[in-house]
This record gives sequence, C-alpha cells and structure tokens, in this order.
Amino acid sequence: MHDLAVVGYGPTGAIAAGLLGLRGLSTCVIDAQAAIYDKPRAIALDHEIMRVFQQLNILDEIKDFVEPFTDSHYFGVQGDWIKCMSTVAPPYPQTFVPSLVFSQPSLERVLRERIESIDHVSIKLEKKVIRLHQSTDHVTLQVQDKNGNLSNIDTKYVIACDGASSTIRGLLGIKLEDLGFDEAWLVIDVLVNEKGLKRLPTVSVEYCEPSRPSTYVMGPKNHRRWEISINAGEDPQYLATQEGAWSLLSRWLERDR
Ligand SMILES: Cc1cc2nc3c(=O)[nH]c(=O)nc-3n(C[C@H](O)[C@H](O)[C@H](O)COP(=O)(O)OP(=O)(O)OC[C@H]3O[C@@H](n4cnc5c(N)ncnc54)[C@H](O)[C@@H]3O)c2cc1C
Repeated sequence: MHDLAVVGYGPTGAIAAGLLGLRGLSTCVIDAQAAIYDKPRAIALDHEIMRVFQQLNILDEIKDFVEPFTDSHYFGVQGDWIKCMSTVAPPYPQTFVPSLVFSQPSLERVLRERIESIDHVSIKLEKKVIRLHQSTDHVTLQVQDKNGNLSNIDTKYVIACDGASSTIRGLLGIKLEDLGFDEAWLVIDVLVNEKGLKRLPTVSVEYCEPSRPSTYVMGPKNHRRWEISINAGEDPQYLATQEGAWSLLSRWLERDR
C-alpha cells in the first residue's frame, strides 16, 4: 500500500509527488495522459514557487524558461500612459524576484525529469482514475488504462491534483463555487522572430480600452502572450483559428514576424 496517491501529473501533482517523495513517503502519481500538455497555460509565477523549485533542486535546469516579470504599463483610452506597476526593489523578501514569467511545457518537462529521479515515487501514466472507495484506514482507487482494463491502487491518502475539471472532486461530491464572472477572452502565445521583437513593446502592457481591453505579456526569451477580450457578437470559434487570431494580432505583428 502507498502512503499517498497523487491524482494528476500536471505541475501541481508533479510538485506534490516530488516533495512527498523527498520526505521518504511512498507516493504514487497517476495521470490519464502520457504526455505533458503542449500549450503554455500559466505564464506567471512568484517567489514562493521559486522556493519550492529550490527545494526540488531544479533552479539550474529551469533558468532558461523562467525570467523576472517586466514592468507593466497601463495605457488609457487615448493611448495615454496612466500607470506603471513595477516589482519591489531588492533586497527581495524571499531572495527571488517576487514576480516571474515562465514557459509552462518546458518547465513541466524539467519537473517530470526530476520527479522520475526521486526514490519513493512511482509514476503511472495513461491510467485514468474512475472510482474511489474510502474505508477507515485506506482508499482504493480504480483506474482504467487506454485499452479499458481496470485495476486498483490502495493508498493511505489521496491528493487530488487533477485540474480544473477534477474527477476526484466529482467523485467526492464537492461542489465548485462559481462566482459567475464569465467573459470570453482569447489567449494567444507567439514565438516572435528578431524582426518582430524590434517592433514590440519592451515592457508588459495593459491596454485599458473599453472597446477591447487587452494585455500583452513579455514571456521568457521570444515568448510573447496576448490576452484579448472578445466582444458580444464576435465569433470566438473563428477568432481562435489562425486567420481569426492574426486579424486580432495585426495591430502588433504581421505573420512573417
Ligand atoms: C489560458 C490560461 C492561462 C493561465 N494562466 C495562469 C497563470 O498565469 N498562473 C497560474 O498559476 N495559472 C494559470 N493558469 C492555470 C494553469 O493552467 C494552472 O495553474 C496549471 O496548469 C494547473 O496545474 P494543475 O497541475 O493543477 O492542473 P493541470 O495542468 O490541468 O493537470 C491536471 C492533470 O490531471 C490529469 N487528470 C485529470 N483527470 C484525471 C483522472 N480522472 N485520472 C488521472 N489523471 C487525471 C490530467 O490529464 C492532467 O495532466 C492558466 C490557465 C489557462 C487555461
């Protein structure tokens, strides 16, 4: 029987499994997929997370994928500069710059390599947890492989790290509180070439334009992110195609950049 089973091998599950394994607890981490999700989702992290990466001893390996957050400039309706948000000056309270940007798939690859090297952690991929049975001293997880075969995993505790649509939350009947704030925004990540970089802002920008609020984030190296609001009457499906996305990006970039 394992001490712990961590359901989900995204960044949260990988870190949980790594920290538990380093403390000598026999930990089994389970994911329905084999591969890392190939699109960057999170782009920002903070100094507390850097302290966790420090405990996992991966600071050298991630240095190419993590950079300090630049200043953020806010521009008003007429394009006028209305505010600047900077990070605090050193000395930093947690040693690291308080706010950073990162490329999620690259960082997750480093995390997985590290977790694989930790004794006490076993990794089960392409196994989807479909049922959970709790008794007084352990939990049995039923998992299904890609061929539909079922097997059981016994563990003293389960940690649910299975993401936004968590199966475990559903199986335990835990309600998700929805605060009802729902807006359509398109997030576009671009690897910009040298020509393009010359034309783009060298700080992050909030475009506070009521007609289309947008955010431009300076990611690591040549990774740039736009978060662009979609207006009523616009078709999100079309805007999420290459053609639609480029129609929104044309204000900043052409395709050859
Ligand atoms: C556009 C966008 C921008 C974002 N920006 C930020 C940001 O700037 N900062 C930030 O902190 N966060 C941000 N997020 C959220 C970000 O995605 C999460 O922080 C991060 O990926 C969550 O990691 P996780 O490990 O909790 O979940 P996930 O990365 O979703 O991993 C969950 C894992 O659980 C597995 N799984 C699910 N169900 C089962 C099951 N039944 N059995 C076995 N395995 C299962 C999945 O296959 C998956 O691998 C953003 C998200 C999006 C979409």
